[in-house]
Amino acid sequence: MSNQELEELRSKLDEINLKLLELLNERAEIAQLIGHLKTKQGMVKFDPVREREMLNELVKHNRGPFDDNTVRHLFKQIFKASLELQEENKNKQLLVSRKRHPEDTIVMVGDTPVGKEPIMIAGPCSVESEEQVNTVAKVLVDQGVKLIRGGAFKPRTSPYDFQGLGIEGLKILRRVADRYGLKVVSEIVNPADIEMATEYVDVIQIGARNMQNFELLKAAGQVKTPVLLKRGLAATIEELLFAAEYIVSRGNSQVILVERGIRTYEKWTRNTLDILAVPILKQESHLPVLVDISHSAGRKDIAIPIAKAALAAGADGIMVEVHPDPSVALSDANQQLNLEEFTNLMSALQLPVTSSTVK
Ligand code: PEP
Ligand code: MN
Repeated sequence: MSNQELEELRSKLDEINLKLLELLNERAEIAQLIGHLKTKQGMVKFDPVREREMLNELVKHNRGPFDDNTVRHLFKQIFKASLELQEENKNKQLLVSRKRHPEDTIVMVGDTPVGKEPIMIAGPCSVESEEQVNTVAKVLVDQGVKLIRGGAFKPRTSPYDFQGLGIEGLKILRRVADRYGLKVVSEIVNPADIEMATEYVDVIQIGARNMQNFELLKAAGQVKTPVLLKRGLAATIEELLFAAEYIVSRGNSQVILVERGIRTYEKWTRNTLDILAVPILKQESHLPVLVDISHSAGRKDIAIPIAKAALAAGADGIMVEVHPDPSVALSDANQQLNLEEFTNLMSALQLPVTSSTVK
């Protein structure tokens, strides 16, 4: 084959490439239109029967030299790319997506902004008594912390473990918080309790075990109280964002996301802190992102480095469990910091003191 012949064939290929590109994009535009129609009609995007019909039709007309399997393979790739294009559009439409809302959402808890300067949420795993909460609250105020956490409804793995003080626990939190000018973060597990909880808490926590309790998410979407939504034990980042979308799409835009570790085969920590989730969530969503250094690690000896790692990765704050005497705590005894350890953590982090956190 002469050089000239080769050049001619190559230039024919170049021409065909451009035609194919043109046709592929024309096809993609039509696929997008179909995607919009399906969205309007609430239909699922992937239609395996239709794909099978298209592949059969193509194979029927295949005159080679590609064999039928190669034709199937090539077109499946085209179908997959079209579907991804439709999915991408779907994610663009999410209310929690940064594509939809480029500016950071700042969740105001009283006069404390969450999503601006890094903040700290601290307090016992469970509310055990007024004295216990009071002791922790004093140290929080000393350290310039504005948000106290404490579980009143505890979703415990074993039904025989301490289940929390319930409404009495919320009342204790409210009394102590009001005494010290703090704001309350506490978990609610029952959709029917959401309305009642707004009387006592400033932030409704939805825990890892309930991240996909859709009725709870919908109920939390119907109030105006900010919601702190924790990533499920085995939830993907996308599933966390869809869970947040349940709340935001019902009308409550005040959602704070929390990375709290996911379950892996690792045994030296309770969970594996997915630090990668922090910058990814910050990139994909406009909602504030916190890191729970207690439930991720399940131990407290590494609290300072993991908190620093979280902040370095772009987290908007830290959540940590603090108990006056962790060794006798009714839940999560191994991971709760004592008061001195908490003070050391605060010194190590040197969180910015905003006007609202000045005592
Ligand atoms: C908690 O923060 O009290 C808690 C139970 O954490 P998680 O839902 O992340 O396990
Ligand atoms: Mn706990």
